[in-house]
Amino acid sequence: MNENDQPTWGTATRGVRAGHSRTPEGEHSEPIFATSSFVFDSADQAAARFAGDEPGNIYSRFTNPTVRAFGERLAAMEGGECCVATSSGMSAILSTCLGLLEQGDHIVAANTLFGSTISLFNNYLGKLGIRTSYVATTDVDAWREAVTPDTRMLFVETPSNPLTEVVDIAALAQIAREHDCWLVVDNCFCTPALQKPFDFGADIVIHSATKFLDGQGRALGGAVIGDAETVGEKVFGFLRTAGPAMSPFNAWIFHKALETLEVRMRAHSENAQTLATWLEAQPGVTRVHYPGLASHPQHELASRQQTGFGGILAFEVAGGRAGAWRVINGTRMLSITANLGDTRTTIVHPASTTHSRISAEERARAGIGDGLVRISAGLENVEDIIADLEPGLAALDA
Ligand SMILES: *Cc1c(COP(=O)(O)O)cnc(C)c1O
Repeated sequence: MNENDQPTWGTATRGVRAGHSRTPEGEHSEPIFATSSFVFDSADQAAARFAGDEPGNIYSRFTNPTVRAFGERLAAMEGGECCVATSSGMSAILSTCLGLLEQGDHIVAANTLFGSTISLFNNYLGKLGIRTSYVATTDVDAWREAVTPDTRMLFVETPSNPLTEVVDIAALAQIAREHDCWLVVDNCFCTPALQKPFDFGADIVIHSATKFLDGQGRALGGAVIGDAETVGEKVFGFLRTAGPAMSPFNAWIFHKALETLEVRMRAHSENAQTLATWLEAQPGVTRVHYPGLASHPQHELASRQQTGFGGILAFEVAGGRAGAWRVINGTRMLSITANLGDTRTTIVHPASTTHSRISAEERARAGIGDGLVRISAGLENVEDIIADLEPGLAALDA
């Protein structure tokens, strides 16, 4: 802990104040260090830096002050020791796996993971001899049964996409401890503003900074947070060698965005709650998936594990795919895009977009029906979001 991160500070204060050491210029807002390399006072100093005998910057693939400031701020918000920032959420997952795992190792993962994560595990880690087994996300016994002597990592997203299933992080952490493996939580949907996986025993937290951390759809980035040995040495060792580093400009965008993360997540959650409650009362809607609803199967768990229910919700409409498309095509203001975590409300039909590459049977098993619509609630006035959804939903009744 230093003057930029006091142990008594809350998450909002950390988002605003942590992770910036003022330069001698006395700037109030953080500068961007747009430099690929750093100079040394002498050959002696250069040698000492390269030998690791003296701390300090060498080259921006390894460290950069703007990227470090972002990482320190995010680590402070999550309550983690150390953060490695990466060029995207996917390279955060890649760096974690290649930094920590070896040929013959085994991963147990939720079957509702982000599609590219499943492709990375199956197609690329698979050919290096790292195997993955998938289990029903909320079935803790299934996680326990899937563990083998080779298992080194449990990997989960909670809430899941698109059905917002909530996993008991503490229960998975217990399994991870019993079997001496890492519990990795992709905290993309909640962010540290709403959920702190380390408080429930997670070992590593992963982010796609592209989503709510930026929150304005501007830049690609990712992050891995954990202890100094696991993340600061092993994951960082892969990153500085392989090179999926975050650019200083993107780091500056995310660093500034963290200052408003807490208020934004509260506003996203509030709009999503209002939308979910309204949708539940619509005649054409057969089911609404949102952890903030009393009807959600893990509502109690979400209330304990999260300090807010988040901006993502999904709902099922009558009439299958035709009904879902009618609702989506009936909107004028909402953005029809698979992206999420933006100021703008986005709407998508998972079965024909984000989940179109898996078979119809797999989709059915995952509960992703043809009538399912996913919304990422933005920061518009909620009355305007509702007004935009009304025509399509009214057409379902006709
Ligand atoms: C988008 C996303 C990722 C990947 O992040 P990119 O920044 O697009 O590489 C990983 N996990 C989840 C849950 C995501 O939504």
